[in-house]
Amino acid sequence: MLKPTYPERLSIAHLPTPLEKMSRLSRALGGPEIYVKRDDLTGLATGGNKTRKLEFLLADALAQGCDHLITIGAPQSNHCRQTAAAAARHGLGCSLVLRGEGGAPVTGNILLDRLLGAHIYWTEGQPGNEIMARIAAEQRKLGRMPYLIPLGGSNVMGATSYVLAMKELMEQLAAENLNIDFIVFASSSGGTQAGIVLGAAVYDFRGHVLGISVDHDADTLKTIVSALATATATHLGLGTLSVADRVDVNDDYLGEGYAQVGEPEREAIQMVAQLEGILLDPVYTGRAMAGLIDLIRWGAFTRGQKVLFWHTGGTAALPAFADKLL
Ligand SMILES: *Cc1c(COP(=O)(O)O)cnc(C)c1O
Repeated sequence: MLKPTYPERLSIAHLPTPLEKMSRLSRALGGPEIYVKRDDLTGLATGGNKTRKLEFLLADALAQGCDHLITIGAPQSNHCRQTAAAAARHGLGCSLVLRGEGGAPVTGNILLDRLLGAHIYWTEGQPGNEIMARIAAEQRKLGRMPYLIPLGGSNVMGATSYVLAMKELMEQLAAENLNIDFIVFASSSGGTQAGIVLGAAVYDFRGHVLGISVDHDADTLKTIVSALATATATHLGLGTLSVADRVDVNDDYLGEGYAQVGEPEREAIQMVAQLEGILLDPVYTGRAMAGLIDLIRWGAFTRGQKVLFWHTGGTAALPAFADKLL
């Protein structure tokens, strides 16, 4: 048995998140039994997968004596909103660099960022990492200690949280005597998938892990996930454990591009809402579920198989896409 050495983490998320069966969705699709892991309920200002990552990132920031978080994302970034909430909760300042021009409607995650007290900077065509570095320099001049978090919180610390999330899931599966054949979820900056595949190796998950890409082509995302999983294994003292053969990405559902809601996302969001009373999000989980629904319709799974959909959150973005969702 591999024994990871975990770094310190703060307790921010509501864990373990529930594991539920989606009986009505399973029946409507007539395919495998579908389960859902509710990381939309991690609890940090409407929750999501970044809350788990922030438990480790914040612990590291505080250990270094930092007092201001700086991160980057899309205008409706769930990662930025959860970072702003984590900063507020621990009395840190927060600066968010959002890709695009100012003047985006104050709704969804942007509304929450503002309520949570974050400072917002728009890239306006400039490289985001340079803007983050400039904000950090300004903060240092003011005598503050900034802490930079990469896109999606996807570094070894962020990925570590999903190694532990796999431990949590394996304990739930054991308690319920449940065998899952596939884990399916939305994958973008790669931290979630890197952690899940590493956790699958460490905790001996026998099924298949499939990331549905939200924005990258499959080869690009596989390279990102494999590199991050390898770095995370080293970080946790697991030596050169290789998980490259577990990294599987499907890029058939990129649609019209990142954050472009089309008919598949709309159908998936409405189906899950109306059959299960569960909200998906327009950018990530709506797309991943649309992919899962399509795979089921194409007969990718047999009837007796069990598929776990890992709900990574994002519902706070729904109002920003209201005109595309009905
Ligand atoms: C960030 C995010 C993802 C993707 O997670 P990564 O670790 O960046 O791959 C999936 N779903 C939601 C709702 C997210 O906010």
